[in-house]
Amino acid sequence: MDATAESSLRKDAADVIVIGGGPAGLNGALMLARSRRSVLVVDSGSPRNAPAEGVHGLLGHDGTPPAELLRRGREEVVRYGGRVVDGEVVSARRDAPAGADPRFSVTLADGSQLTARRLLIATGLRDVLPDVPGLAEHWGRGVVHCPYCHGWEVRDEPIGVLASGPASVHHALLFRQLTDDLVYFVHGTDLDDQARAQFVARGIRVVDTPVAGVESDADTITGVRLTDGQLVPRRVLAVATRMLARTDGLEELGLPMEDLPDGSGRRFASGLAGETEVPGVWVAGNATDLFAQVGPSAAAGALAGARINADLAAAEAAAATTQHAASQPNADGPVAERQAS
Ligand SMILES: Cc1cc2nc3c(=O)[nH]c(=O)nc-3n(C[C@H](O)[C@H](O)[C@H](O)COP(=O)(O)OP(=O)(O)OC[C@H]3O[C@@H](n4cnc5c(N)ncnc54)[C@H](O)[C@@H]3O)c2cc1C
Repeated sequence: MDATAESSLRKDAADVIVIGGGPAGLNGALMLARSRRSVLVVDSGSPRNAPAEGVHGLLGHDGTPPAELLRRGREEVVRYGGRVVDGEVVSARRDAPAGADPRFSVTLADGSQLTARRLLIATGLRDVLPDVPGLAEHWGRGVVHCPYCHGWEVRDEPIGVLASGPASVHHALLFRQLTDDLVYFVHGTDLDDQARAQFVARGIRVVDTPVAGVESDADTITGVRLTDGQLVPRRVLAVATRMLARTDGLEELGLPMEDLPDGSGRRFASGLAGETEVPGVWVAGNATDLFAQVGPSAAAGALAGARINADLAAAEAAAATTQHAASQPNADGPVAERQAS
């Protein structure tokens, strides 16, 4: 736990509970805290880019270690009165609304019970790698998925694209921009004639023999072993992962999910500002936009935070109007009587 995080709670309430304290959740919380909303971020501390040395492609922060970026984000949320709790949400459910205003209960792994008027889900996603021996050990370093995140860092290296589905062809064309030495391992996927022709024209070598495993020397990949025993020397492997929104503990909310058409992932369905079909629940970042990098994830969190604040403001105005009208005597009430006497 870092200096900006609270120790676990027993019972607490907030206007908004943010589930997940990555770039999306923290930026949402920042907007809410600056709007003087009580906001509580619960974060289990395993952001997607944890294995990476630095965050790249983020203007003004290029190369910042992921943990350092989050540390600064937490500090900013806390500076405005927001709270950050290290913990894992194990259940979240809808409670009976207060009038028309939604209510939620959230339980943490340590048994703490939290309640809120709105939820922002920013749990990120889980990358599922192909089941190839030796691959997972190098995830985020020798095994990469994103040309924009680590492409520059692996430029001119002998790179292999380990195909995992239709997205891998596109992936290969992007990594070809970064190296002249690219090998495409078909690994049982479909590779049509048009793609093969493109690869020949772009000098990408195609290997059809299935992959048996990834070989390495200490921390460095040395090559890809094929099922016929041949070793194809490589230093870096690019893999398009299957991306699955992290849903653990959120099942009871009944949020609709959506599969990507090419089978490459599953996300929480949401509108443009992260609104879901469940009133009072918003979602932001990789949990709903599987391809979003840090900048777009943070931006989505900020937008959702602003919309949640607007929704609360509208609910408060409606409740206040009803209350105000009820407190006003009508024409047949006491005031009329007073005037008559
Ligand atoms: C290896 C790698 C390198 C990358 N490099 C870059 C890069 O250089 N530049 C870039 O722009 N993007 C990069 N990305 C993408 C980047 O990681 C994502 O865009 C970003 O993390 C999405 O932010 P998020 O807030 O949606 O999710 P995350 O950052 O994954 O944060 C989600 C948080 O929610 C928490 N959480 C999940 N479930 C629960 C629960 N039930 N209870 C409490 N907390 C929960 C998690 O512990 C986590 O801390 C990289 C990705 C990978 C895999």
